[in-house]
Amino acid sequence: MIFDLNFPPTLLAMTGLLFGAVIGSFLNVVIIRLPEILRSEWTNEAKLFLGMESENNQQLSLASPRSRCPDCGTQLKALHNIPILSYCFLRGRCSNCRRLISIQYPLIELLSAFVTAYILTVHGISEKALFSLIFTYSLIALAVIDMREKILPDQITLALVWVGLIASLWGYWSHPTSAIIGASLGYLSLWSVMHIFKGFTGKEGMGYGDFKLNAAIGAWLGWQSVPTVILVSSFLGAIIGLCAIVIFGRDRHSPFAFGPYLCLAGWVAMEWGDQLNYLFSYLSP
Ligand SMILES: [Zn+2]
Repeated sequence: MIFDLNFPPTLLAMTGLLFGAVIGSFLNVVIIRLPEILRSEWTNEAKLFLGMESENNQQLSLASPRSRCPDCGTQLKALHNIPILSYCFLRGRCSNCRRLISIQYPLIELLSAFVTAYILTVHGISEKALFSLIFTYSLIALAVIDMREKILPDQITLALVWVGLIASLWGYWSHPTSAIIGASLGYLSLWSVMHIFKGFTGKEGMGYGDFKLNAAIGAWLGWQSVPTVILVSSFLGAIIGLCAIVIFGRDRHSPFAFGPYLCLAGWVAMEWGDQLNYLFSYLSP
């Protein structure tokens, strides 16, 4: 272990809240910008393939252009970039055109702040906390991107697979053998489910992004966690999907994103995997 510093829990919680809110603010940028960047790249590639002229007039990246109001185009002032607080100062509206700002921004910042505080208080300032945070932030970004756009970008899912395999060298959640089998089993299990489902119904119930995300979870947590994660995510997906159809009258034929449930189940399995296994062993005959 390279670093494992002991700090009082209150200090860790406060540091976690502040640091997490700032990262949450960055996650919002990733959630909004990454799909935009990908769409513009795909459009240009398609145009190039069709021999059409591509219009590369605006270079979009995570850093530029600076954040602006989607309605009136006013650039955000430095003061308006303070996580959570700026949303409260502005009372949830653009300072220029008074358009409502999406509640997603402060919610992601709050979520990120609280999970960071939780992870730092439980694991301290340690390598395990660092790996937990990388996994957690990636899952938050993936879950929200999938909810909004119904895509799980390779830029995050595949990077998570490789980082998970590296993390297994420390053996916090899995050892290399278990991580390699976990990555393969994670991918192949959902791939098989999708092909069997497609064989029966002719429809694709899941996308390749879900397989890659499950491969990443398998790499991080080891093959033993793959059945648990699939079971918990399917259970959550079925319950919440059913509620959405029955209570909110959602069209049952419209596509629904499975990624957020995988992310939630993966996170729960990372933090409370032992308790989950205990629960399952208790429930099984
Ligand atoms: Zn505005």
